[in-house]
Amino acid sequence: MPIIRQLPSNLVNQIAAGEVIERPASVVKELLENSVDAGARRIELLIEKGGTERIRVSDDGCGISAEQLPLAVTSHATSKLPDDESLFHVGTLGFRGEALASIASVSHMTIRSRVAEGQEGAELRVRGGVIDPVAPCGCPDGTSIEIRNLFFNTPVRRKFLRTPQTERGHIAEAFTRLALANPHIHMVLSTGDKVLHDLPPTERWSDRIATFFGGEVSDSLISLESDDGQIRISGFACDPAVSRGNNRMQYLFLNGRFIRDRSLQHALGEAYRGLLMVGRFPVCFVRLSIPPEMVDVNVHPCKLEVRFTDGGRIYSRVLQTLRHRFLSTDMTMRVGPASPAGAEPTNNAVPNNAVPNNAVPNNATPSSQNLPAAAVAHSASVLGMAPATEASQRQSVIDWARTGSASPPLPTSLTGVPDFQPFEGQAAPLGHSPPNPATAAADLSAWEQTVGSSPHDTANPHDTANAASPHGSTEPLGEANRHPNATAPAISHLGFQVHNRYLVTQDEKGMVVVDQHALHERVLYERIRHKVLGEGIETQRLLVPEPVSLTPAEQTAALDAKELLDKVGIEIEPFGGDTVLVQSYPAMLSNLRPSEVLRQSLESIISAGKDPEIRDLLDHLLHTIACKAAIKAGDRLAAEEVTSLLEQRDLYQDTHHCPHGRPTALFFSRDELDRMFGRLGPRGRAKLPD
Ligand code: ADP
Ligand code: MG
Repeated sequence: MPIIRQLPSNLVNQIAAGEVIERPASVVKELLENSVDAGARRIELLIEKGGTERIRVSDDGCGISAEQLPLAVTSHATSKLPDDESLFHVGTLGFRGEALASIASVSHMTIRSRVAEGQEGAELRVRGGVIDPVAPCGCPDGTSIEIRNLFFNTPVRRKFLRTPQTERGHIAEAFTRLALANPHIHMVLSTGDKVLHDLPPTERWSDRIATFFGGEVSDSLISLESDDGQIRISGFACDPAVSRGNNRMQYLFLNGRFIRDRSLQHALGEAYRGLLMVGRFPVCFVRLSIPPEMVDVNVHPCKLEVRFTDGGRIYSRVLQTLRHRFLSTDMTMRVGPASPAGAEPTNNAVPNNAVPNNAVPNNATPSSQNLPAAAVAHSASVLGMAPATEASQRQSVIDWARTGSASPPLPTSLTGVPDFQPFEGQAAPLGHSPPNPATAAADLSAWEQTVGSSPHDTANPHDTANAASPHGSTEPLGEANRHPNATAPAISHLGFQVHNRYLVTQDEKGMVVVDQHALHERVLYERIRHKVLGEGIETQRLLVPEPVSLTPAEQTAALDAKELLDKVGIEIEPFGGDTVLVQSYPAMLSNLRPSEVLRQSLESIISAGKDPEIRDLLDHLLHTIACKAAIKAGDRLAAEEVTSLLEQRDLYQDTHHCPHGRPTALFFSRDELDRMFGRLGPRGRAKLPD
């Protein structure tokens, strides 16, 4: 029969430590919180070797008297619950009375402390849970706790520690959270030889945010404020122009405690609905003050998660506060110019005045860098149509088709792009009756207007003219005739482009519609992978390395993955604080900012999770690079580009899916087409005359 035994307190503490003390950063969090609870005005954190060797937290708080010191390292002993009732309205960060006991059971701990009115300080040492007698010592007012040899007696835990750099990253994040929650406290973080942060107390929260996240974030803060008498919300939401690929930059503080809360993160996402692209997350710094009895913080050993008595109400308060603020802020200004090119007035891409009287704005000479911005402008204008207008447009098309009398509305205003009529000059080949000249003219003008700012027209007008000439431009087409170059869609001997996003071609069996972005992405992916595995990717060295400020987690990921990033042509160097320098990056991404390339790559590294396979990581990175570098839907192609894409399509066996798994091409077999057009009988046999 198994014997039940009462576990010795030391083992109990080690078990508790397993729950709360996962890594050096957990120790840092507990010690910093104790200093805050002690009313410190200044807290210094010193770490060596990512905290695995040494962690020391010194404060000028209330101190612990000599008699009380042994109690401080005893489990379930706390000064923060003066009576049994106080558990239900906790106002301090700690209250479980477990942290010091847990930490002391798995490390070498030295506490030195002096209470203000005390004559001399006291020192207590604990080694793996074994408590030495208290001894007098000289020390300043306040408390200093030093932890050495963490996990020395729990080898498995020790083995799970990552590199000192990774652990340092986690510590930096813990420090960041606490320093953000307490801007009134002077906080210092240093390693053995370097001061990483020295943050004087400040009244303005944005100052502290700026020191951690730099100008990109702090220049785009939109202040928040609301108070319904019980729930007080303050802080900042960031411009939608500043977003991230994950929610790690959503700092939520509840009554001074950093928390993670899915429901509130969801509320933030909802508030930004329509302002951010799918897959992007807002950056926010939100402080909530709630009466302590409305929240239970005793649901998670690290108190990272909490439970609200009325979660729904808090959710809607957060959502409303952001929404109201956004309504009173000119968000279009803020979302609008994603890049300076996007704001260029000459890119007159709004296709709602169907028949412009004067010339198309072909005088704009956007550089190739403007291309993505121009594409953005197009899609924005297409999306901008009111549903009612769209419905009425659709109805009049139907009416026109039914009666054939009233003239059709201009399809341009429906889709932003006119109907495709590649062979206006010779309408006959398709067997259609010639288009209504007035409509065609209007369509084409609008087409011009939509695509007129494309660099392919302006940079290379002759090429386009040549490409168009085989089909002739003999027919007088009014407006269109004046700008024949801009009206012709890109037609190559292999196929043509429609709606600036699909390529139409044929193979032996039938017709193929290709998604230009998906195909190009696939082609690039194969090509980069080939290069990376072979001679290496071509990189572009920056004359002036670009500093990029990262979150602690991003920085850690970056430094850990330095070699991997090297492989894909992104060379980085640490540059003190939370900044890294990008020295070089892939030449094929030269139309993107180096910081953007690095962030994108880090997002894929971070989202790969713990200990990713190097091969998967590389693959993921290559996908990201390929996707970024590939032409987009909306990019107008020149005839040669259509040719080269359609040629490359055959270079790879498996081009049917883009790296994200969406189809690259749709195939319509001749049989299928025949059947659809009723050329095959009901059983697919009786052939109709051609
Ligand atoms: P808790 O914070 O949950 O009370 P801890 O184990 O972290 O439990 O700390 C035990 C007690 O030690 C605290 O309640 C507090 O009285 C005392 N203590 C710990 N750190 C400090 C500090 N830096 N300054 C003053 N008192 C401290
Ligand atoms: Mg504590």
